[in-house]
Amino acid sequence: MQDVDWGAVAEEATSILQGLVRIDTTNPPGNETAAAFYLAEILRREGLSPEVIEPQPGRGSLICRLSGSGERGDPLLLLSHLDVVGVERDKWERDPFSGELAGGYIWGRGTLDCKGLTVMEVMVLLLLWRQGRKLGRDLILAATADEETGGKWGAGWLVANRPDLIDAPYVINEGGGYGFVLGSHRYYACQVGEKGRCRFRVTTKGKGGHASRPTSDNPIFLMGRVLQSLNEMKMSARMTQTIREFFRITAAGQPPEVVTVLDKLARGCRLNAEETSLLPEGLAADIYATTHDTLSPTILKAGEKINVIPSEATLMVDARLVPGSEPAAFLDRVREQLSPLGGVEVEVIDSGSGLEADPDSELYRCMAEVIAEEEQGAALVPFLSTGGTDAKHLCKRNGVRVYGFMPTRPDPDAPVRELLHSHNERISVENLLFGTRLLYNVVRRFCS
Ligand SMILES: [Zn+2]
Repeated sequence: MQDVDWGAVAEEATSILQGLVRIDTTNPPGNETAAAFYLAEILRREGLSPEVIEPQPGRGSLICRLSGSGERGDPLLLLSHLDVVGVERDKWERDPFSGELAGGYIWGRGTLDCKGLTVMEVMVLLLLWRQGRKLGRDLILAATADEETGGKWGAGWLVANRPDLIDAPYVINEGGGYGFVLGSHRYYACQVGEKGRCRFRVTTKGKGGHASRPTSDNPIFLMGRVLQSLNEMKMSARMTQTIREFFRITAAGQPPEVVTVLDKLARGCRLNAEETSLLPEGLAADIYATTHDTLSPTILKAGEKINVIPSEATLMVDARLVPGSEPAAFLDRVREQLSPLGGVEVEVIDSGSGLEADPDSELYRCMAEVIAEEEQGAALVPFLSTGGTDAKHLCKRNGVRVYGFMPTRPDPDAPVRELLHSHNERISVENLLFGTRLLYNVVRRFCS
């Protein structure tokens, strides 16, 4: 078996990612078909048999399967998505669709979310194929359309209409793999679950009238009280299996002051600035958000004219729920909270329960082993994502375990998690190669 020439892999992965970023797949409208054909052509040139599935004009997803003997077990699915979120061009230092290589980074929308992962997964498939390696299980690559607006034409469509194409109990997906340093140790966070969502509309009503003759039931004043009441709503800490495991692993072998801070976090306490400074950037906020139901008012509407009191005001609220906290029960709590105000209507717009995959699986253990070997003793820790991914579609099938694992080393100059959906999104060539190498080692071990 030939050793992999990682220098050549870095060059090839960079070039494929640059080409992929240059295909603008901003969703809406998406236009992922062009990106799917671009990758299909690369795979076809090598003798593989990719398929582009297009349930709606322009909304193509790429699927490619390497067949294995089945001796090692059920298939592994490498999942990612081809669409990206929009950009505010004037806020970027470089053209977001240029794929420009500068200062060791490939710049552009999607380099981290999630075309970078797509390219890592394509490279893993290509490397195993070129080696002529006999696999002990099927390996499936799926780069789908439409993740950013819910997955209706991508993973959602495939699960509902062509489950045979992506049928696998093990899935590696976006949403995790971030390296971080805590106290004296290094960790990689593997996303094993996601928070649920409960989006609702609050409506207040009144008679309305001329602004010069104020009414006693101005719906805007009532909405002000609604906002205050929602802001004061008490959310208690909920420890899920994932977060308990996160604390168990990260507290081991740490100095006492770090253990104390982790313990406070585990009990749902807020930290002061000094305590927060002992943790990596953003971790305290992440822990808070993954152990509490949260709600954010996002859209507020009332009135058309300055001299007319409107008869209605509406507020949209985006709530995110810890796995185990169900949308219907959460909405009951919201109604109860607002009921003393009187005359307030609450309706659900969109909801879905959170997910949690078991971190005790063959694939999870394999990822943990590879991380420990490749990163000199670094530990894999399970984590929950505060946002949603295509995992929600895959998990509709029983027993499917989806792990968010796009391995990246900490990069203080371009912190991965802060650049997702943000201006100046970019990935270092070093991290593109690192992620490819880690995933290659995981997949090779898991499948052969
Ligand atoms: Zn994404």
